[in-house]
Amino acid sequence: MSDNDQIHGLTPIFVLLLLAGCGDTGMTTSVDDILVNGKILTLDHAGTVASVVVVNDGRIVAVGGEELTDRFDATTTTDLQSRVLMPGFIDTHTHIRGQPKRYIDLTGTRSIRELKQQVADKAMELGPGEWITGYGWSEDVMEELRRPTRTDLDAAAPDNPVYLHRAGGHSVVVSSLGLQLAGIDRDTPDPDGGLIERDGTGELNGIIREQGDSVSRLIPEATDAEVRDSLVAMLKDQLTLGITSLVQATGTIENYQEWERIYREHAGLLPRAAVQVAWEGSDAMAAFGRKTGDGDEFLKLAAVKIFVDGGFTGPAAYTKEPYRGQDDYRGKLNLSVEELRRIINEAHGAGWQLGIHAIGDAAIELTVDELVAALQSAPRADHRHYLNHFTVMPSSETMIAMADNEIAITQQPNFTYTLEGRYVEYLDGDRLQHNNPLRTPMDYGIHVAISSDILPIGPMVGIQAAVTRKGMSGAVYAKEEALTVVEALRAYTALGAWLTFDERDTGTIEPGKLADMIVLDQDILAIDPDHIMNTRVVQTWLGGKLVYRER
Ligand SMILES: [Zn+2]
Repeated sequence: MSDNDQIHGLTPIFVLLLLAGCGDTGMTTSVDDILVNGKILTLDHAGTVASVVVVNDGRIVAVGGEELTDRFDATTTTDLQSRVLMPGFIDTHTHIRGQPKRYIDLTGTRSIRELKQQVADKAMELGPGEWITGYGWSEDVMEELRRPTRTDLDAAAPDNPVYLHRAGGHSVVVSSLGLQLAGIDRDTPDPDGGLIERDGTGELNGIIREQGDSVSRLIPEATDAEVRDSLVAMLKDQLTLGITSLVQATGTIENYQEWERIYREHAGLLPRAAVQVAWEGSDAMAAFGRKTGDGDEFLKLAAVKIFVDGGFTGPAAYTKEPYRGQDDYRGKLNLSVEELRRIINEAHGAGWQLGIHAIGDAAIELTVDELVAALQSAPRADHRHYLNHFTVMPSSETMIAMADNEIAITQQPNFTYTLEGRYVEYLDGDRLQHNNPLRTPMDYGIHVAISSDILPIGPMVGIQAAVTRKGMSGAVYAKEEALTVVEALRAYTALGAWLTFDERDTGTIEPGKLADMIVLDQDILAIDPDHIMNTRVVQTWLGGKLVYRER
């Protein structure tokens, strides 16, 4: 029985007391906020849809119909104008990174024209002479269907050295000034393991493959302060996407301490965060003296992170069968089996939760075998160990073992959309069709939360892909893996809360929980599923405070 049912159960008694004690004098309870006239998706077990939510002191005190307006007297009333209100998203696998001021994010850049504008704007912001860096361009998505060259960069920022990484990081484009400062000209020989591209006449086009160090070593290091400011800005951006809780999927003890400094200063204005940390050895972790769950309602320690294999951009996911068209190449393990076993046993033994990166089916099966062995030799109730990713579906024996041993998953359905090109290139048959499976592991009884891995940023692409199973091309992959919209929303909220031991405080709109809520611009349940990714978050409430409102 949920808290919600209890409140409804009490309602008749409450009304009776009102009638008996106070007659019709209209005794009401004073509260901070009442939000009315909404389509409130509580995302509770029963799938309750309500129209009014009452908030006091940061928490939800009642959820129901318009009759609640007679029982509560609110300082502020918000008319939701029939829009959808739902729990804030819980992104259980993301990467928030601070960047220097000189840095431009090019992952969303869709034309050379746009890239040139971004470079020109940055040059204006920084002034002449300053290095401009960036990451994420790709000719695959450029309107002009070509790579940027030094000529493009020179036109955009003639007085700044510019150094922009392609997505994946294996090549860079450098402006003429950047090349000149690095002493690279048409007579410079190719570096070891790298290539300085030249045209038919031997002229440089600005692209350097693999070995950009001779240029990048000239770029001054960012200050701690500017990186911190950018980290705070990126955390605040999450609120505009409706993300009220997140799991930072990589980190160290030192990173965690930096996040503590940031959260001390900005508590209540940033999404709630749980930070995964690498296992730095039994002694270092014992000296740290803290473990999963330590912290407060804004910032705490999440699971220990272990990388068992790579991903599909390398590609380096560790698979049972060779990649399509790659002879006998099956990706690779990121650490030895002995090393994996040691870390699992030490971290599990020390009481940490484990959140393990495993993408290929061979990596998943190995990881589950090792987790099951650790759990058998040292059983622990409610461990909530989980796998990050789970892209290539493992054997049914493995999924049965996961269900039996309560090993969960945080899955990225947006990969089906964004990484379609990689999967089509390297996978085939069922492994391609069932990439990033959802329904199958759920049917085995495995707890599956969904998250973004910031590819791209924001939950809507993942929800659309979970519902449609479509790649970027529009092709559908194993439609039988699809979830309903409500199931996908629950996997991005309630099921995510469980993964961070927060199900008592977040994940649904129910009395007693923190008032972490978002309002959408369109009815995500009613629209064409192919348009889910256009849905915008127009309000974000964090602990009963309106922390974002679309202008
Ligand atoms: Zn990740």
